[in-house]
Amino acid sequence: MIPKDHPRYESLMIRERLVEGVRKGVAVLEGLIAHGRGEAFDYLIGERSPEVMDGAYRAAAAMLLLAKDPVISVNGNVAALCPKEVVELAREVNSKLEVNLFHRSRKRAERIAEVLKRSGAEEVLGVEPDEELEGLSSERRKVSSRGIYRADVVLLAIEDGDRTEALVRLGKKVIAIDLNPLSRTSRMATVTIVDNVIRAFPRLKKEVRELRKEGEGRLSDLVSSFDNKKSLKSCLEFISRRLRELELEKADR
Ligand code: ATP
Repeated sequence: MIPKDHPRYESLMIRERLVEGVRKGVAVLEGLIAHGRGEAFDYLIGERSPEVMDGAYRAAAAMLLLAKDPVISVNGNVAALCPKEVVELAREVNSKLEVNLFHRSRKRAERIAEVLKRSGAEEVLGVEPDEELEGLSSERRKVSSRGIYRADVVLLAIEDGDRTEALVRLGKKVIAIDLNPLSRTSRMATVTIVDNVIRAFPRLKKEVRELRKEGEGRLSDLVSSFDNKKSLKSCLEFISRRLRELELEKADR
């Protein structure tokens, strides 16, 4: 039991959720390592959504609202950490949900679909993939012909760079949620939100609600004026500024 007044209560509770996910066969041990990498970057951004990501959030929300056939790709970590929030966003933008796994097994795909259904999803694709993504050799190539295969916009999170690259090469717009602004996924995606999935899914839902009243022209402007490289650069600058300031605070003491 983690005491509520523990200074790292929230972070420890997130870890607990993931460990529980592994125990239930939803997440895998490798996912714990990926989470550790994410946590390190979360520490660097102050465990809050960085203001420099405001533009990325708006561009991603606009992209989802403009999408003809959006799909949210779900892996074990995402299913263990924030299934309800994922389902709520999908409902808000009329998006399909598809399980996509690097360490794939039929059983685990079924378990993840089950978690999403218990969180309110009506349909979850990807348990029985019937298509393959070209140019990708990992298990992640296996997709649904009604989902990722024909999607125009794919939202993914906690992802490895290979599939992001393959999806972009196939002409899809990719929205990535990734705490590491230096990862290949972050650099390959069309719009990268550098933030924790725990905060990113509810915030995206909020942004979508706010932008829904805007016309197509304004939404297209938000998407076309967004520059992912510039946004990631601002994020790195924010992190270095923050670290320098923390360093100075220490020196002042
Ligand atoms: P790439 O191939 O894109 O360089 P990688 O090899 O680092 O990525 P993984 O080890 O699979 O890929 O890690 C997945 C990514 O997910 C990492 O960049 C990590 O920072 C990020 N990540 C982990 N946990 C979270 C989380 N809770 N929210 C958002 N991002 C996360």
